[in-house]
Amino acid sequence: MEATSARFPANARAALGDADLRASLARLQREYRRDRAAVAARLPEFDALRDAAAAIKDHALDHLAFYLERFEERVIAQGGQVHWCRDGTEACEAVLAICRAEGATAVGKGKSMISEEIGLNAFLERNGIAPVETDLGEYIVQQRGEAPSHIVMPAIHLNVKQIADGFRAAHGALDPARALDGPDALLAEARTRLRDKFLSAEIGITGANFLVAETGSVVLVTNEGNGDLTHTLPRIHIALASIEKAVPTIDDAMALVRVLARSATAQEITSYTSLVTGPARAGDADGPRAFHVVLLDGGRSRLLGSERRAILRCIRCGACQSQCPVYGHVGGHAYGWVYAGPVGAVLTPALLGVPAAKHLPAASTFCGRCEEVCPVRIPLPALMRSWREEAFARRAGSATERALLKLWGAAVRRPALWRALVGPVSYVLAFCARRSGVYRALPLAGGWTGARDMPAPEGGSFVAAWARARKADAP
Ligand code: SF4
Repeated sequence: MEATSARFPANARAALGDADLRASLARLQREYRRDRAAVAARLPEFDALRDAAAAIKDHALDHLAFYLERFEERVIAQGGQVHWCRDGTEACEAVLAICRAEGATAVGKGKSMISEEIGLNAFLERNGIAPVETDLGEYIVQQRGEAPSHIVMPAIHLNVKQIADGFRAAHGALDPARALDGPDALLAEARTRLRDKFLSAEIGITGANFLVAETGSVVLVTNEGNGDLTHTLPRIHIALASIEKAVPTIDDAMALVRVLARSATAQEITSYTSLVTGPARAGDADGPRAFHVVLLDGGRSRLLGSERRAILRCIRCGACQSQCPVYGHVGGHAYGWVYAGPVGAVLTPALLGVPAAKHLPAASTFCGRCEEVCPVRIPLPALMRSWREEAFARRAGSATERALLKLWGAAVRRPALWRALVGPVSYVLAFCARRSGVYRALPLAGGWTGARDMPAPEGGSFVAAWARARKADAP
């Protein structure tokens, strides 16, 4: 997909004016926070499990080459094949070559962020192959010609009416007067449409949550069962995965599944956790006759040797997105590429480069919620800060931005100057808004006041209040 991350401010402004989007996001944040807190509270060892999950990922990353080679050996031993791809172009070509060799014209797809990252659907369509998304959320956004807006809830930005409108437009052969007034009706219609696709797809493409080195298995975690239909019904199964998905053992993968389910959808366990190990064997009731793993580097090896390596622990749970107040106001599409929210603010500059990601590392209030909920304890705010520093060093921002940052830097390094500036300004601002307590417009703060009120200072600075409190506490 074409990245529009460099246009984040304009994308965000448009999103802030979309009342339907704001309502959908507000519901996500309210319900997710409540449910995630409840599911975490029911497991006393949840935090210890998160430490263990981070340690498993760190160990796997420390020995990544070893575990990937071991994974390949085991896949081959089971009758499968691994395709090593340096970038998205090679990965798309590898998938196309398999489709061509099979004479396939249609593929069924389970959920895969790597497929979004490499732009697989558009590539297959350009080459005469029709991809059909089978995950309900992915199917909904595909019908609307949109990208997913959240890692695990791709259509979370839409309400029932918007989804129904999309179905009416896409399923033109059906009775236009049919009732599509709730989730059950929408689900039934999608299920009927997808049933034929499952049965007729020649090739099934899925993602992979984990790659297990000891067995050569691909672990798939889903809630709808579409992933299982996608890899068991077609005659060929292709699993798309990036290299950092490798873990040593099945026990390690299951430890990660325990934190993944709780963090992604606030469930103790997702409905389906499947281990796919090679093609069908003689006597198996079902399963594909060929099994391929398309393994993407896509810039990860570079990250592996960098100070930002911790982002490779990410297990794509989407918890940081569901909790982030910035994501909660602008939604995933504003971030302009595959990964939105805090994970996107760190991963996009790493995979696309600082000029393409531009504003994303700055799209954070640094409230720290993302780090608090990350199941593999990725220090997301610190990583965003390091990208901000790099963007400043590489002069990625505008001249005005750089000049203001320099001025601010010069002032905060001189406490006496800072106090001399901030004290009078905050008194003046407090005095001018003494009746309403807020500012609806302020020079140089239009980006803030354009979409919300700016609370007026209450008078005096934090440093002055701190000094007063210390004096009062002194014996
Ligand atoms: S960064 Fe952490 S919280 Fe965000 S998607 Fe990845 S694992 Fe989940």
